[in-house]
Amino acid sequence: MGDNINKNLGQAVIATENKHKLEEIGAILKDFNLEVLSIKDVGLEGLEVTEDGSTFEENALIKAKAVMKKTGKLSIADDSGLEVDVLNNQPGIYSARFAGENATDDENNEKLLKLLEGVPLHNRTARFVCCIATVFPNGDTITVRGECPGIIGLEPRGKGGFGYDSLFIAEGYNKTFAEIGEKEKNEISHRAVALEKLKKRLKMKFVN
Ligand code: IMP
Repeated sequence: MGDNINKNLGQAVIATENKHKLEEIGAILKDFNLEVLSIKDVGLEGLEVTEDGSTFEENALIKAKAVMKKTGKLSIADDSGLEVDVLNNQPGIYSARFAGENATDDENNEKLLKLLEGVPLHNRTARFVCCIATVFPNGDTITVRGECPGIIGLEPRGKGGFGYDSLFIAEGYNKTFAEIGEKEKNEISHRAVALEKLKKRLKMKFVN
């Protein structure tokens, strides 16, 4: 805010190899005068960035900063995962590799269910978290956090989605994320909340 950002906003790189994330983040940038580039468009496909932060925010910033440094362009990256209260917020930033370095979604879900054995539903509270970091060529940063609260079910249900979707029942629902379908999930998800916040923050920065 208050910065004199040029109205010709130039290009933005979305630091993800995930097509869905590219589309979702790209869609909100349509409101701005920005040309959206993928990691492939800037020749950085397969870029290895060591995500050694201790929070979702830090890891998203590490990724966005690395891409900004390499391209000199506005860069956006995200980091997301699941926090389970009774497990002291595990798996957290280790969500993708909870059951080991190359663990599958099934293996991660199995480990989670095992750790929650005997824990009643009312103590299985959890939340999906998504942090999105934006790094500008002048070094300015914006970091937003979206959360979607819910509980971890007693067994996997549903065929849709990915990751922990078949175990996660959002607050106010009795179906898992894998059962409600992509459209409904995308309206209430942690990513949707974070994207909405990012849109507002970018508006504050650009539109004045
Ligand atoms: P990343 O931020 O895309 O690397 O996601 C990290 C991990 O968090 C994924 O591999 C999933 O295990 C989990 N995760 C993040 N978002 C979701 C979601 O919307 N549904 C299910 N699992 C998710």
